[in-house]
Amino acid sequence: MRPEILFPLFKEVTTLPGIGPRLAALVVKVAGDRVRDLVLFRPVSVVDRSLRPTISEAPEGQIATIKCEVEGHIEPPKSRFTPYKVRMSDETGFLHLVYFKPRIDYLKRLLPEGEIRIVSGKVETFGSEKQITHPDLVLTESEAAELGGLETVYPLTQGLSLKVLRKAIRAAMQNLPHLPEWHDGSVLHERGWPDWHHALQSLHYPETLPETDPAHPARQRLAFDELFARQLALQIVAQRRRRRAGQPVVGDNSSINKILTGAPFTPTNAQMRSFDEISGDMASDRRMMRLLHGDVGSGKTFVAALAAARAHEAGLQTAIMAPTEILARQLARNMEIFLKPAGMSVGVMTGRDKGKKRGEILERLATGGINVICGTHALFQEGVEFEKLGLVIIDEQHRFGVSDRLKLSSKGRRPELLVMTATPIPRTLSLSVYGHMDMSRLDEKPAGRKPPDTRTISMDRIDSVIDGVGRAIERHERAYWVCPLVEESDLSDLSAAEDRHRQLAAIYGADRVGLVHGRMNAKDKDAEAVRFRNGEIDILVATTVIEVGIDAPDATIMIIEHAERFGLAQLHQLRGRVGRSDKASTCLLLYQAPLGEIARKRLDIMKQTDDGFLIAEEDWKLRGAGDPLGVRQSGLPDYRLVDIEAHLDLIPLANEAAKKAVYEDPDFTGEYAEARRVLLYLFEQDDGIRLIESG
Ligand code: ADP
Ligand code: MG
Repeated sequence: MRPEILFPLFKEVTTLPGIGPRLAALVVKVAGDRVRDLVLFRPVSVVDRSLRPTISEAPEGQIATIKCEVEGHIEPPKSRFTPYKVRMSDETGFLHLVYFKPRIDYLKRLLPEGEIRIVSGKVETFGSEKQITHPDLVLTESEAAELGGLETVYPLTQGLSLKVLRKAIRAAMQNLPHLPEWHDGSVLHERGWPDWHHALQSLHYPETLPETDPAHPARQRLAFDELFARQLALQIVAQRRRRRAGQPVVGDNSSINKILTGAPFTPTNAQMRSFDEISGDMASDRRMMRLLHGDVGSGKTFVAALAAARAHEAGLQTAIMAPTEILARQLARNMEIFLKPAGMSVGVMTGRDKGKKRGEILERLATGGINVICGTHALFQEGVEFEKLGLVIIDEQHRFGVSDRLKLSSKGRRPELLVMTATPIPRTLSLSVYGHMDMSRLDEKPAGRKPPDTRTISMDRIDSVIDGVGRAIERHERAYWVCPLVEESDLSDLSAAEDRHRQLAAIYGADRVGLVHGRMNAKDKDAEAVRFRNGEIDILVATTVIEVGIDAPDATIMIIEHAERFGLAQLHQLRGRVGRSDKASTCLLLYQAPLGEIARKRLDIMKQTDDGFLIAEEDWKLRGAGDPLGVRQSGLPDYRLVDIEAHLDLIPLANEAAKKAVYEDPDFTGEYAEARRVLLYLFEQDDGIRLIESG
């Protein structure tokens, strides 16, 4: 149950005075439908109206707020394109207020001749005269009395003015309950942070410019509140999971040894170290909750195979979940190769398997005929029974799959959990999502890999690129050809891939050039991928679907059209599709000139390094918070008060504080428990809430 003290904050915005249904719809669009959403609405910028010069002092190019008298309205002659002007004056001079296409009767009411008005806006000069075009504010003296020096600016939408939105926020702030303090007093003291109430006042009604800086104590506190809520929820999830003790999963290395002997390669040190960490977790009576973080091609699947073999030694089954069907089948294929020497049986089940086939798989799962099952989330649906599920592995690939994770634990008897990801994201940031997990890193690529030779080429030279690919396939090389897709549904981009496919097929033969795109069904995509892997086709034209799809270790050429449209992380993932064997490989980044500064830097970084973690850091620096789409695509939480770039350093702090909180008060009965429940509700951290409520 939501704490009563929060009720006023969770009322609909329509309950605020002055917000009717029409306005509410607009407010909901930018902020949200609750009073709380307005209270937690972060301004994007601030306008400084503290400059109050006379007309003669008013500096060009700056925002000035000037007290002056309305001298007269100057209506332009009908026939000419001249704006409407209102002449204003004070004892030092005059200036014009300039309006294009005004509603004249409205202006006459706003600015009656002979009256004093306070006008505010950017001062311009036109010839030798000063003017303000479409002033931001025109106020009477009494209205202006309320005008602070600094005015916060919020994101707006068509039909919603700043004035109205600010009024709504003011009304919301008037309902602000005094919430109990959820932070340890020493944290506040050490950092000089104000209480929640004051911090919010400062957010919406700053009195000084430093207050509008994300580094200001009030802003830091609010960001920390949100990060702490998130971390607290994660830590509660972890703690409750650990509390229901697992079973020690131990083995005699019989299967492990067979797999190591039978492997087509020598594992890297990083692979063995990660497996040691995993097997230590499994052997303890605490349930494993570990993240295996490794760049594309770092060999996560083999580590997963070792973990599955350990479970098998203990008489337990393993379920591996992949984000797509293609990936699930690919995983199964690789697992089969690795696990065969130990005599383990591998199955696949995706949404595509129905009827008799599905029945068969279910039967073998329930009776232990399958040791390792790979699949999509179909694996965790009703009706799927395991004989003895001991280990769950989730291959998240490049995205976070936060919500699914809880569900899995219910299958089987408290299975161990291993999450694998290649998400290229700085470590600090990854705490936002994985802050409750132990971490193993594959920071070493398999030996003998040569990083792809990466080059940038202007689209003008496409003909020579096409010729070059022709020569390469004569040498029996295989090439990916990627055409960007902005949106899965974007027809024009799809046709770019189709056009390229048609062109290449005309040159090299329709039987040697394939096409995959996001609008094909899984089965067709899969079939095309298999033809490419088996070498039945030499060139595979694709939209970005291959980013999370196809594994053709023999492919050696990656061509990316309009590389300037991709983020660094994406480029890196795409390039990671080649250079997966000991053969030399090439990556050609085709760009449309002229390149913007950021695009050029991105492409330069691609030429300089093949280290995914380094690329992730650079990527983050380059786009930072300026690319909210990128943030969302990565699956990071959508923070309200946190300015990710400016508040990055607070993430580890919040992580530590939350660990401490849960450690010191595991049952949520201590001094801060009630306040922290309020905090979790305030930021809607459902996972954590559900778990503390269910005890
Ligand atoms: P990831 O899932 O981390 O992107 P994979 O597990 O798909 O990487 O491995 C990439 C390729 O490298 C696969 O073809 C795999 O068989 C191979 N591989 C894995 N470990 C090694 C190793 N130690 N030495 C050589 N090749 C390896
Ligand atoms: Mg993988």
